[in-house]
Amino acid sequence: MYIVQVAETECPLCRSSSETVDHLFLHCSWSWEVWSGCMQWWGVNSCPNNLIKDWIEGWNGLCPSMNRKGVWNILFFTVVWTIWEARNDLVFKAKEANISLSMDWVKFRVAWWFKTHGCGSEDALTLLLLDIKERCVDKDHKNKSRSGVWDPPVDDELLFNVDGAAKGNPGMSGVGGVLRDARGRILCLFSLFLGFRDSNSAEILAIHKACQLIASKPSLADRTVTLKLLLHGPRGSNSFADSLAKAGSRRQGDRIEWGDL
Ligand SMILES: [Zn+2]
Repeated sequence: MYIVQVAETECPLCRSSSETVDHLFLHCSWSWEVWSGCMQWWGVNSCPNNLIKDWIEGWNGLCPSMNRKGVWNILFFTVVWTIWEARNDLVFKAKEANISLSMDWVKFRVAWWFKTHGCGSEDALTLLLLDIKERCVDKDHKNKSRSGVWDPPVDDELLFNVDGAAKGNPGMSGVGGVLRDARGRILCLFSLFLGFRDSNSAEILAIHKACQLIASKPSLADRTVTLKLLLHGPRGSNSFADSLAKAGSRRQGDRIEWGDL
């Protein structure tokens, strides 16, 4: 039997990064397509946190329905399980990892879980029939404040969420940012240490750094890029940039990564 040969630390799903827990279950472009696809059944767009543990903690806050938190929680563990299974099938059985097939498995498993836990055959059937958005999303969800949800840019545009953070004001500070397309794919991220500064200057430098990075890539010259910095209020929609900035304030050595442009 043919077994896929991968370097021990290379992610077998995307083969473009090392296989850490945070990468495999969250940042991997393959895994993130499964997450985004499953969230879009519910009309939810979001972006990955820096760490899987923050993603777990924030998951409940993304649920679009007050009455369907149970299904939403099962969805989380089902996606994690399905990614792990696809990874193992690829590595040990040479089975191609197929995103839409994996999403079908997620749907089936969530529905099956509901059926076997006596939550009503109607629910199970509804989920199997892909009617999730109609049945599981609160009617006023779209009109509600979406402070915890990342709003993607439209069509071909790109969105650069940036932030600056200082521990104390002034204090040890850092900047962070993440550039994504309308599908939520990460095209660039940065997390840099600034030294002793106040938070206002850290925020200005975060914008400056994002502009420098955009200008450094000729392939971005004809793209429309919106820069977003939240000065006040809940940072939910900017939470990834916020966590990169906070990590920057404690960082030794800069982190700048580019995705496929
Ligand atoms: Zn990967």
